Parts: sequence; C-alpha cells; structure tokens
Amino acid sequence: MRCPFCGHEDTQVKDSRPNEDAAAIRRRRFCPTCGQRFTTIERVQLRELVVIKVDGRRVPFERDKLAKSIRIAMRKRPIHEERIERIVNGLVRQLEASGENEIPSKQLGELVMDTLREVDAVAYVRFASVYRDFREARDFETILVSLATAASPGQPDAAAEAGPDESKGAMKRA
Ligand SMILES: [Zn+2]
Repeated sequence: MRCPFCGHEDTQVKDSRPNEDAAAIRRRRFCPTCGQRFTTIERVQLRELVVIKVDGRRVPFERDKLAKSIRIAMRKRPIHEERIERIVNGLVRQLEASGENEIPSKQLGELVMDTLREVDAVAYVRFASVYRDFREARDFETILVSLATAASPGQPDAAAEAGPDESKGAMKRA
C-alpha cells in the first residue's frame, strides 16, 4: 500500500482488527520513510450485478427492488418477514454465484418465479401475473396448469415440459 503522505510504495501494517460486525477489517499502517500513520479498511467487494432489460437497457441490480416485488406478491400471505428475507438472500446468492455479471430481466423473473412456486402458490401467481403482464385468460390457464403439474408427486420435471413459455433458461434451479 502506497503511503498517501509521501508516496513511498511500501508501508507496514502495525495492527489489524475486525470492525464491530466483522464485515470489515481495519489496518493501521505506518510509513517507514516519512513516519506517518494511516488506516485502511478492507471489506468484501461483491460483484456488481447488472440487469439487462427487454429493450436492451442495462440497469444496476437492486436488492431492495427485488425484495419489494416479492413483498408485494407475498402481501397478506402467511409468510414471515424473516422467511422473505431468507428468500431474497438466497436469490441474491444464486445470482452472485452464477458467475455472470449481467442477467437478462427475463432470467431474473424466471428465477424468482421458480422460487416462489415452491413457497406459496398465491404469491407465485401474483408475481407471475405482474411479471408476465398477463393480457389473456390463456396465460392464467398456463400458469395454473404448470402449478398443478409441479404439485404432482413423482413428476418433478413435468413442469419443464409444459411448453415453450415454461423454459427457464440457464438460471434453472441448480
Ligand atoms: Zn510516507
């Protein structure tokens, strides 16, 4: 680490300690050339995820926005806030672990739908209806059929064969 006072390229770490929540490490540094001391803070840098909209625009991924859309779908459903938090955390981890910095919004929507389908059928249909911008009764039918199929025991892959609308792309649940 270069000394910010004299520009000397080599400074010594005198002391390292985690901050209160252990999310960062503070290091006290000393410059042997000019004798100045300074502190550096080291923290995890998560990849910055970008969502590619249908029209090709790229916008930064926002965890809060994702959480909000899930909360709206879960409104008045018997799901604890803690569980919603865990669902959102799980989704963010999946996105971060995917190795892709850019996620098409369609893929993101499918990922959320895959998750909600397993948590709460009503929340799933609500999210899907907003996400897919249903205009025809047929769309609801497709969703209900896929729900019924997914619920059949012993046929875990049946939903994947429900038709082209059900393709989940590369983000398919791992
Ligand atoms: Zn210095």
